[in-house]
Parts: sequence; structure tokens; C-alpha cells
Amino acid sequence: MEKVVIIGSGCAGLTAALYAARANLKPLVLTGRQPGGLLTTTSVVENFPGFPEGVEGYELMVRMQKQAERFGAIIKFGTVEAADLSRQPFVLTVDGERVEAETLIVASGAGHRHLGLESEHKLENKGVTYCATCDGALPMFRNQPLVVVGGGDSACEEAMYLTRFASVVHLVHRRDTLRASPIMAERTLAHPKIKPIWNSAVSEVLDVSLDKVTAVRVQNLKTSEATVVNCAGVFVAIGHIPNTGVFKGSLNMDEQGYIVPKHGAATNVPGVFVAGDCADRVYRQAITAAGLGCAAAIEAERYLAARDE
Ligand code: NAP
Repeated sequence: MEKVVIIGSGCAGLTAALYAARANLKPLVLTGRQPGGLLTTTSVVENFPGFPEGVEGYELMVRMQKQAERFGAIIKFGTVEAADLSRQPFVLTVDGERVEAETLIVASGAGHRHLGLESEHKLENKGVTYCATCDGALPMFRNQPLVVVGGGDSACEEAMYLTRFASVVHLVHRRDTLRASPIMAERTLAHPKIKPIWNSAVSEVLDVSLDKVTAVRVQNLKTSEATVVNCAGVFVAIGHIPNTGVFKGSLNMDEQGYIVPKHGAATNVPGVFVAGDCADRVYRQAITAAGLGCAAAIEAERYLAARDE
């Protein structure tokens, strides 16, 4: 029987592990399919405080893991296939094995929604990226034309952010109006460096044979006309998919599957806490996930202490 099981090993999960370990709770961290979480897929992280020269996403996560392990956290590669939260202790099925937990911290994160193109997949991290705040300032994108795909607040935010570095930002959206909030949409469309390409979809990212992004093939969805837009980078901002499927029906979620905390890090199930991107559709930053992981671990510790009083 584990006192604390943490589901997820991104910034939220490993920070929760650090705090729970330092509270002598010997937390068990189940890594999920992507140990270290989304940050391991990005290159240099320049906005995590304490690293003035920036730090590789992978290295940052390795350091977080080591720090948590130093105080007794146990990291186990595994994916939660089922969760029974209807009784205490909670019962998880992890790669076919049964794990019992007195408290749970769900820090399972969210994945970027992808366009689903083969060329997109092949050029990921070679010019195709899903996070302007993480990658926008890289030298390869400076003073270059860039493409942002999407029409929501994220796409607008990414496009606005990229205007600091790009020569021009082409905003490719599948309709002729933005989904983004009016103020955001207005600001985006008024920016002289942002050029919208309406009613259009990216059908291919070029050039796989050169192993880098040189352009995108864009198809007008109304006229079927195809054009090639030169660019050094493609920022896909078409939403996220929270990794919360196994908790459907037991934890309160919004219509997109983000867990809705009851207050702070608590959920509708006493003893189950939540942290990071699986419950955050607004900020989605490494540092906010880490902060929420800290909060969830403190809540779990207090819950166990109150129960044992
Ligand atoms: P979103 O609001 O769901 O927008 C996703 C956008 O991507 C939509 O414009 C959608 O097109 C497009 N899209 C979806 N699937 C696509 C596909 N397969 N191919 C091409 N385009 C596709 O997601 P988001 O922008 O990440 O925002 C998520 C939430 O966070 C929202 O509630 C948003 O308000 C919030 N947010 C707020 C801020 C802020 O306030 N500063 C910043 C970021 C996010 P359609 O419009 O045609 O559906």
C-alpha cells in the first residue's frame, strides 16, 4: 500500500514528488508513456527561473527526477490503465499490475493536438513545434517568416509572441473568423507582422528530404487552390488534449476533459489531488505546473495528517 501515488512525471508530478518525499511519504511516481512529460520534447527552456543561460527540457526533467529521488521518491515506468476511486484505498491498474494508494496526485498532463500529417511528425523539433514560448526565440526562427496554425486564443498568443522574432507571421486558420476572444483577435489582426490566411489548412510541411522546415503547402478549403508559403518554422496551436481518459466518470471534468479542481488542488474525491496541465487550460507553463505540483503534495500531506489524527 502506497501513501502517495503520483500519476505523471512532468513538472507537476516531479515537483509533487519532491515535496511528498521531503515529507517522508516515499511517493511512488508512475511516469506515464513519456517520462519527464511534454518538456522533454522541447529544446532549450529559457523561461524556467534559475537557469539564466537556459536549460535543455530533457536535462531539466532529469534534474527534477534526481532531486525527488534524493529524498526518497520512487520512479516507476508505467501507464495507468484503470483507476477505481470509488473506495479507499484507491486501486490503480498499472500495466496489468494492481497498485493501492491512500492518496493520489493526478499530474497526467496534456498533449498537443497534432495536425496528423506525416510530414509534420517527421519534422517535429526540426522546425515544427507546439510551443512558441518554449521555442520561438531560437536562432533558427529569428528574422524568418513563420507559420502559426489555429484560430483560438493559443494561436493568437503564439502569433503575437512570435512577432518579436519573426520577419512575418502567417496565421493559417480553417475558417474566416477567429475563435479567440474578441480583444485577442482584434490585437492579433491589427498587428502589422501578422498576415492571416483564411479558410485554409496546412496539407504538407516541406521539406522532409532536407530534414528541416522550408515552407508549408496550404490548401484553401473553399476554392481548393493550393499555395506554398515559405517559412522557417511551423507553430501548431490547435488545442490540447488532456490525458485524463481513465478518470472519466470518477473525477469532475469540463467538456474538454480537463479535471476541474474543487478548491485549490482538491478534487471531488477526498484524497485525490490534481496538478498541472491536466487541470490547467489557461497557463500551461512549466513553472505553473511545478507550483501546482507543490500545492497538491502539501494538500496530500495535510489530508493524511488530518486523517491519522
Ligand atoms: P481552442 O480554443 O480549442 O482553439 C483551437 C483552434 O484550433 C480553433 O481555432 C480550431 O478551429 C483550430 N483547430 C482545432 N483542430 C484543428 C485541426 N485539426 N486543424 C486545424 N485547426 C484546428 O484552443 P486554444 O486556443 O488552445 O485555447 C484553449 C482554451 O484556453 C480556450 O478556452 C482559450 O480561451 C484558453 N486560452 C486563453 C488564453 C488567454 O486568455 N490568454 C490563451 C490561450 C488559451 P475552429 O475555430 O474552426 O474550431
